[in-house]
Amino acid sequence: MTQQRREGAIRSVAIIGGGTAGWMTAAAISKSFGRDIHVQLVESDEIGTIGVGEATVPHLSMFNRLLQIDEGEFVRQTQGTFKLGIQFNDWGRIGDSYVHGFGTIGRDLGLMPFHQYWLKARAAGRAKDISHYSLNTLAAPQGRFMVPPSDAPPNTPLAEIAYAYHFDAALYALFLRRRAEAQGVVRTEGKVVAVNQAGESGFVESVQLESGAVIAADLFVDCSGFRALLIEQTLHAGYEDWSQWLPCDRAVAVPCAKVGPPTPYTRSTARTAGWQWRIPLQHRTGNGHVYSSAFISDAQAEEILIANLDGRPLADPRLVRFTTGRRRKIWDKNVVAIGLSSGFIEPLESTAIFLIQSGINRLMGLFPQAGFDRILQDTYNAQMHFEYERIRDFIILHYRATQRDDSEFWNHVRTMTIPDTLQSYIDLFAANGQFFREGTELFGLTSWVQVMLGQGITPRTYHPAVDWVKDGDVMNLVQHVEQVIAANVALIPRHEDFIARHCAAQPA
Ligand SMILES: Cc1cc2nc3c(=O)[nH]c(=O)nc-3n(C[C@H](O)[C@H](O)[C@H](O)COP(=O)(O)OP(=O)(O)OC[C@H]3O[C@@H](n4cnc5c(N)ncnc54)[C@H](O)[C@@H]3O)c2cc1C
Repeated sequence: MTQQRREGAIRSVAIIGGGTAGWMTAAAISKSFGRDIHVQLVESDEIGTIGVGEATVPHLSMFNRLLQIDEGEFVRQTQGTFKLGIQFNDWGRIGDSYVHGFGTIGRDLGLMPFHQYWLKARAAGRAKDISHYSLNTLAAPQGRFMVPPSDAPPNTPLAEIAYAYHFDAALYALFLRRRAEAQGVVRTEGKVVAVNQAGESGFVESVQLESGAVIAADLFVDCSGFRALLIEQTLHAGYEDWSQWLPCDRAVAVPCAKVGPPTPYTRSTARTAGWQWRIPLQHRTGNGHVYSSAFISDAQAEEILIANLDGRPLADPRLVRFTTGRRRKIWDKNVVAIGLSSGFIEPLESTAIFLIQSGINRLMGLFPQAGFDRILQDTYNAQMHFEYERIRDFIILHYRATQRDDSEFWNHVRTMTIPDTLQSYIDLFAANGQFFREGTELFGLTSWVQVMLGQGITPRTYHPAVDWVKDGDVMNLVQHVEQVIAANVALIPRHEDFIARHCAAQPA
């Protein structure tokens, strides 16, 4: 039943840009509000999309569920694979390797999280490396994967396997486009050449395309990528630059032929002045080298990338420039920026698509009913800023908590001053292994504990409540968890076999 509309209600939305951000926004808004709101999308074939962005965090499955997307179909259509976490090589010191896995570590007991008991057992020489106590971190390097089986007993590690996806970004955009158009989204191909604003308010009234066509709407979503056509070029929302903490400002990317079964994890290998990603898909492997141009040249960066591919390059390397930071106002007047137009944090923890999803959810939650009440915009901006800043801190942690001193770049990041928020997280963990998640920050206990330990931050002691449990019981708990995790991992098939059975894509 269509409800009576209030005066001034939003009746039309125009999305400017057809990359991952544009089509995710179009698919979600048309699915949720499509009967009442006319949704249009403008994209320019000439400008194209950024063409990278292939690793995710587990939240994407919630977005796909909202759109009633079948998981098997999604993986098949996007040449996707599954991801249990990220393997970090050479980050703490050259030769180090650890996995930041999704999911949980061990089993909590009483008031204390499992890793507190592990700290005591380890101090007594009775515990293995933390990776043995989480299903994801043990299964990933063994190349094993499955989704939680429907017959897994509740509260067992198998019932709680947490995972994300790797996929071909261009195929995902195409997949969403088909759905969005079927849900009524009207797509116009063309380049926006002018933006028309209302005289007094400065609200965007319409955009004009090179063809002369004019597209008007009540609400505009700026998904124009780094160009930030509406939010910056038109409204001058401003940009907070975070390069003093995250000095990488370029990436060179190239796909290569796959040479073996796909790993169920993303790989990040630290290099002289940055790091290299490796993202396995069904039909190829995505690679890129993220680096700081203050420390190495583009030519050196490309040489390092090419020298470290595990298959033959399938295209010419592509250079992308960026400045880490975020827009001072992500929602301004009747323009909401989603995707790269809202800000950018380098892809070390695959968070950009999550930020798109969270921007969409928040926009739908704060969707203006009548007019543009200022509190909606202020709430949106405050929440997005918080989310961006906490992800920023988590990324900085990987650089700051290094012991590497083999290049100018690592000396710089190892000794730089960091935001107070991050410093207090590190100090608290170093004191007695504690971490408290604040509000809606994306990364929780498992993530912070694994990365802090993986990067060599060792707590001086454990929480005193651990001593309230008998020593024998602590050791038994730790040993029992290790055995249960190992036994569960042994039941998981190989990643490639799981894909072959459930979601093999057509050969590309
Ligand atoms: C090096 C790198 C690696 C990344 N890796 C990951 C990752 O592993 N995981 C992850 O989650 N994210 C990653 N990202 C981020 C991810 O790529 C982006 O968040 C995602 O692709 C969204 O991009 P977008 O849609 O905002 O912009 P774009 O893909 O750039 O799309 C912009 C759109 O706007 C259109 N447009 C622009 N100007 C105009 C105009 N004047 N008129 C009409 N149309 C216009 C373009 O044609 C295009 O359709 C990475 C980003 C970079 C730079």
